[in-house]
Amino acid sequence: MLLPADLPTPLQVLDDPDFARAGVELRLKRDDLAHPTVPGNKWRKLAPNLAYAVETGARGLYTFGGAYSTHLRAVAAAAQALGLPSIGVVRGDELAAAPRNWSLRAAEGCGMELRFVSRADYRALLTDHQPLAPGWLVLPEGGSNPLAVQGAAAVPAEIPDLGPSDLLACPVGTGGTLAGLAAGLPPGARALGVAVLRGEGYLEREVATLHQATYARQFDNWRIAHTHHGGGYGRLTPELTAFAEEFEQRHGLALERRYVAKTLHAVHHAATTGQLTSGTRVTVVVTGLPDPL
Ligand SMILES: *Cc1c(COP(=O)(O)O)cnc(C)c1O
Repeated sequence: MLLPADLPTPLQVLDDPDFARAGVELRLKRDDLAHPTVPGNKWRKLAPNLAYAVETGARGLYTFGGAYSTHLRAVAAAAQALGLPSIGVVRGDELAAAPRNWSLRAAEGCGMELRFVSRADYRALLTDHQPLAPGWLVLPEGGSNPLAVQGAAAVPAEIPDLGPSDLLACPVGTGGTLAGLAAGLPPGARALGVAVLRGEGYLEREVATLHQATYARQFDNWRIAHTHHGGGYGRLTPELTAFAEEFEQRHGLALERRYVAKTLHAVHHAATTGQLTSGTRVTVVVTGLPDPL
């Protein structure tokens, strides 16, 4: 059985002089503490899908990811806990013969069967996977589907008194988390997504598509900042690294770099350059844990 999540996750107020000077309050919604084996937004997004898999008697979980995919590890751990087999299609056939990195080793260690495919085959499989796994629940890359969006929409419901001075911020990889946060906000409050990869236009379309598929409507309370991806997914500029290290020391916490540090960096930049009006309360959703050393 999958262990229950520890909800609501803590809301932590940070005393940060840079934000204070701008008259902006900074809080962290510690979703990284949500679950011992399926942390962060991966739990939010997977939980409704796992309930659906159990309800419908799915024979296994089938999904996709890159060499260091947190989603693959999360699906592998969840499937193992549910006693279901899992298959992970991995982007990059050159990885098949290479020694496993820590992330793929963790997925395999939970019993996930890894299938390594070329980048071209990976793209083809993403859109045409159904015949490969009859009776299995197929989860898209990153896990972003309508059930995942509904799972993420539960986050703002855990935060009391949200209103017009509130901005909820999160990273954007595939957009499922941002789509859910925006949909779950009360009137007046807004959501800011921080793109962690180059995807201006594309990411907005992904979020809009998820909103249409989940709620059959659009929301106008969100936007995506494209200024802090640092050149692409997994790219960490020296400026980002310096910011993250200083922030960690200042507040005594460890920041996941590919998503959470980029989001805080973007929010910090917005606050210190006058892009957030005084009196704004920013809540950054900490969507995951740092990589193991
Ligand atoms: C997977 C992941 C994301 C991406 O979320 P999307 O819903 O795909 O946009 C963000 N943060 C962390 C820490 C992640 O592991």
